[in-house]
Amino acid sequence: MIDLTPILDRAGESLIVEDRLDMGEIAVGDVTFTLREPVSVELLITNTGDGVLVEGTAAAQVRVPCSRCAESFDHTITGEISTYLLTRSRDSEDSANDGDDLECLEGHNLDVLPLVLAAIVIEAPFAPLCRPDCMGLCPECGTDLNVDSCECESSYTKESPFSSLQGMFTENEVEADGND
Ligand SMILES: [Zn+2]
Ligand SMILES: [Zn+2]
Repeated sequence: MIDLTPILDRAGESLIVEDRLDMGEIAVGDVTFTLREPVSVELLITNTGDGVLVEGTAAAQVRVPCSRCAESFDHTITGEISTYLLTRSRDSEDSANDGDDLECLEGHNLDVLPLVLAAIVIEAPFAPLCRPDCMGLCPECGTDLNVDSCECESSYTKESPFSSLQGMFTENEVEADGND
């Protein structure tokens, strides 16, 4: 929560906010990003007269499993925040609506958490890769093809549309046959 009292009565006034928000884990679809440290937030909040303009960046240092090889790696997600929030219109004082139609503004306080979360989620990769050319796991035998090779058909490697299914390991089939 950021107290906007210093700028609320004066149009044109700005407030610079630097904050660190501890958000724990951020889940986007099936991917869970674990924060390695609180999210670093830098905001410029400007009273425009009718509302407040919130602009800035949020940087999250996360640890996430690679979608191909399942190895966890460190990643930085930087999101942009640019939001305009209307404050209560001054000529609707007698309105039945108490002016509380804002998601983030509560009284004189601005809750930046939803803004920061949205900014990070937008930039979060749907299929995180430990590196752009990650070879992933062999879908046949489960070998991490980044560190080793295997005897399976090479057609199953990185260009396979099934590589995203690599989480569904079956037990390695024991080569019982042809062992004479
Ligand atoms: Zn990988
Ligand atoms: Zn293999």
